[in-house]
Amino acid sequence: MRYALQHLYGLMAAILTFAVSPILQAGPAENLAQAVTFRTISSQDPAATDYAPFLAFNAFLRATYPRTFSTLQVDTVSEYSLMLTWPGSVSRSGAILLTAHTDVVPVEPGTEEDWTHPAFAGVMADGVIYGRGTLDDKVGVISLLEAVESLLAAGFKPRKTIVLAFGHDEEVGGELGAAKLAQLMRERGLHFEWMVDEGGLIVSDSPVLPDRPLAMINVAEKGYLTLILEATGEGGHSSQPPLQSTIGRLSRAMVKIEENPFPPELVPPVDAMLAALAPYADQPRRFVLENLWLTGPFVASQLADDRLSSAMVRTTTALTMFNAGVKDNVVPQRAEAAVNFRLLPGTTTEEVVEHVTRVVDDPLITIRHNAWQNRPGIADEQGEGFIAIAAAVAEVYPGAVAVPSLLVATTDTRHYTDLAENQYRFHGMEVPAANTNGIHGTDEQISIESFEKTIRVAERILRNGAR
Ligand SMILES: [Zn+2]
Repeated sequence: MRYALQHLYGLMAAILTFAVSPILQAGPAENLAQAVTFRTISSQDPAATDYAPFLAFNAFLRATYPRTFSTLQVDTVSEYSLMLTWPGSVSRSGAILLTAHTDVVPVEPGTEEDWTHPAFAGVMADGVIYGRGTLDDKVGVISLLEAVESLLAAGFKPRKTIVLAFGHDEEVGGELGAAKLAQLMRERGLHFEWMVDEGGLIVSDSPVLPDRPLAMINVAEKGYLTLILEATGEGGHSSQPPLQSTIGRLSRAMVKIEENPFPPELVPPVDAMLAALAPYADQPRRFVLENLWLTGPFVASQLADDRLSSAMVRTTTALTMFNAGVKDNVVPQRAEAAVNFRLLPGTTTEEVVEHVTRVVDDPLITIRHNAWQNRPGIADEQGEGFIAIAAAVAEVYPGAVAVPSLLVATTDTRHYTDLAENQYRFHGMEVPAANTNGIHGTDEQISIESFEKTIRVAERILRNGAR
């Protein structure tokens, strides 16, 4: 109902806009379904990216959210990324930043048929919106714009300046999108008390909290580091092979790396998350969670046994690339491999390089790296932004438990590290744990009910946060 009302800004206007563009009359769910149909697929190689859908998608946003695009200051950055500024009514009262991204990952070739409904068809069926981007991250873009559009319709005037920033290449690193948006913000002298990006969500059937929605508000994310290992040595004809091949040498190094993972440990904010769950746990688990000073190592090793929770308690090691050889009868002089690490807060690049160098223990293998800069710190879980998010969740999801959490993946957030005092990652959608597999996977989907709540959470974050 409330969303049907948002477009009723005078009978004349309604009649005129309906005549021009019937899409303006669609509800939020239809708008998200429509958003899915734009194949805004980013590619590591910008030259290989088809940008026509990005332009069409931005045009769709302008047509669908006319109040927003005519009232807020709109800047286009790197041709496809968008920054929308809603000036606060009281100058010097601060600013907040809300971000999301318009690009999506492709469907893995060969898995198209596994989808219940095609990934880019924008199908709504049985109360569910299907398609790539319904969780990551068109849900973020559309929910924020729906929220702003309805706040404008309701006459809301923020005291603080609100900035929305939508990058177009988050899935491939954000160098043209978020990095350039951040640059424009710096040029404008903008600084934010806090920001909210994608990342956290509400899990409806979490094993740790089965009967209540668990809102995981990410206050930190893991670091990202890839080490390239290179073995060089004698090559030549395979009829007279060297005693030790580069492939053999490098293989041994890779096995050693995999067999020597980083030890599990409980670090902030994961310890805070577990402590926050203690009041909802039964004994003896409750005792364990209430006394992490004592039980921490035990809890960490328990969590490390499961593939999903393991990433919360250790710097992970993933062997991802192995390249050597060009012909079956030639011993290569060079073999190269990549290992991707996701670093726990507090673990540094230097520590990882040192650990790997020690484990490999082979002077003929060189190790180089290209670490990401500007790693975000841990945001204040008592901060104004956290409180605004938690309050929004409490209003829309009575009974939900909001906890600070660690994002085990990465986002565009790091590009804004110097721009925001505190960085949070959260969209207010409630998703069953199993459905999170749809992120970058098959059958990505969101229920209409969950999407509508996502908008209500966004609206409340904006309203409470910009007061
Ligand atoms: Zn994303």
